Amino acid sequence: MSERPLLRVTNLTKHFPVRGGGRRVVHAVDDVTFHIDRGTTFGLVGESGCGKSSCARTIIRIYDPTSGSVELDGQEIAACPARELMPMRRRMQMIFQDPYASLNARMTVRDIIAEPLNAHFAALSRAQADEMIFAMLEKVGLTREHANRYAHEFSGGQRQRVGIARALILRPDLVICDEPISALDVSIQAQIVNMLRDFQQELGLTYLFIAHDLSMVRYVSDHVGVMYLGQLVEMCAADEIYSHPLHPYTQGLLQSIPIPDPRLARLKTASGLEGDLPSPIDPPAGCRFHTRCPYAMAVCALEQPPLCEAAPGHCVACHLHTPRNCDAKSVSIE
Ligand code: SF4
Repeated sequence: MSERPLLRVTNLTKHFPVRGGGRRVVHAVDDVTFHIDRGTTFGLVGESGCGKSSCARTIIRIYDPTSGSVELDGQEIAACPARELMPMRRRMQMIFQDPYASLNARMTVRDIIAEPLNAHFAALSRAQADEMIFAMLEKVGLTREHANRYAHEFSGGQRQRVGIARALILRPDLVICDEPISALDVSIQAQIVNMLRDFQQELGLTYLFIAHDLSMVRYVSDHVGVMYLGQLVEMCAADEIYSHPLHPYTQGLLQSIPIPDPRLARLKTASGLEGDLPSPIDPPAGCRFHTRCPYAMAVCALEQPPLCEAAPGHCVACHLHTPRNCDAKSVSIE
């Protein structure tokens, strides 16, 4: 029997009320189910506004879920009273997208990294905290001399290193990386990704890695989930999503990846994604992608396709691939 996953998310839903909108809600996350095995990376991908960051923030309880379950190492987080969340929070940390906005400009780097330490280990002396902070700064490629500087004195890449140090100082089990490289120069992105991979090996970390483009998760993910308008529409091993994408939205995302070589770019067929993401306040009935899908059929506007295992370990929510014996409730990738 396989080991229990570190994170299990089941039917997670997060709706936000619309201000002045009566009973109308924003369907940020709808019925999302997946799990992440210990020491592996799950890439969560989709266009801006598809709900992936809301999903991550609901998992970590920055937002309270509307319904559904989130288990960390078998312990329920979604329904856990706020006062009991503290020990769980130490085990789950987040690296944010924008290293410019996520660090307090009035605090020194030392104090930024000390903040979570002080919150979780109040008995730690200043000297003990400093020892841990200096060691962590060196691990992320900075030096102890950087500790007394302010975030605005650093480059984007250095700020993200500070953000990583702040997330890892508590030795978490799960790290949610919310587009950690998309605000950085291309030349820095590979350095940060390589550093995150090295930490994963060394510390046995489990990552939920969020990105808006499939090229960004390609080299870090073991499994990939694709989200569209609050729902998971495809999920499988990372290699499989690039070699055999089944959902028309995933195919469109793949065709949208820019090709750096202009000669190869000229050979590429037209990009598959047209039109804008519909409003998550009134998502389209049936398959939410039907307003943009080149293969839409009459049934697509009427019936929502269930997420089914179309091939071993490969789940997809599309009427083109729904097997006759689909049991959506048992969907899970191993
Ligand atoms: Fe396209 Fe229909 Fe599949 Fe939705 S269910 S992705 S509209 S073919």
